[in-house]
Amino acid sequence: MRPVSYLFLSFVCWLGLAAAAWSEEAQTEPAPLKAERFDCENAFDLIAMMVVARCSLYQAPPGASDALHAAATRLRELGVASDDELRDSHMAFCPLAAGTGMVPAPGQLYLDDGLVSMSRDGLAEILAHELVHIRQFQRLGRREFKCEYVRDMLACGGCQDRGHALEAEAYQQQDEVRERLLQAR
Ligand SMILES: [Zn+2]
Repeated sequence: MRPVSYLFLSFVCWLGLAAAAWSEEAQTEPAPLKAERFDCENAFDLIAMMVVARCSLYQAPPGASDALHAAATRLRELGVASDDELRDSHMAFCPLAAGTGMVPAPGQLYLDDGLVSMSRDGLAEILAHELVHIRQFQRLGRREFKCEYVRDMLACGGCQDRGHALEAEAYQQQDEVRERLLQAR
């Protein structure tokens, strides 16, 4: 994900702060599930589920799937993505409200539909970035990835750039892949 609008970030930050407060309460006072049990995972899901709902209704333009396939093949040829992870990841274009890509759930990756006509290598480097988030989901586990993502975002004042620890890892991979693609030309 990349920088999003101020209003959107303010909303997410508010959710995160509320989540943090409620999470603290949750640690000391186990109680039945109620609206106020809303926590860090819910904060992530509130945004992610809106994306999934919108994307599930979206019909990609002709050529979108070929473009994705070509970018994925490029990453596989470069040795930065495995057959298994490419096969196991659901990848699609979708009009994202902000940013160039998003991984709303394990193995589920969306790229903004504005990128459909991008060059193969340009798309490949963004795909490489999002594949890092797929791996982070696997490494940390579903809940911990979501909570860490929200916590890191709060820690950097709502950022989704290199100041966000999980994003920094993805941007580093994106940079490395861009360099390798340039060298391979
Ligand atoms: Zn990212």
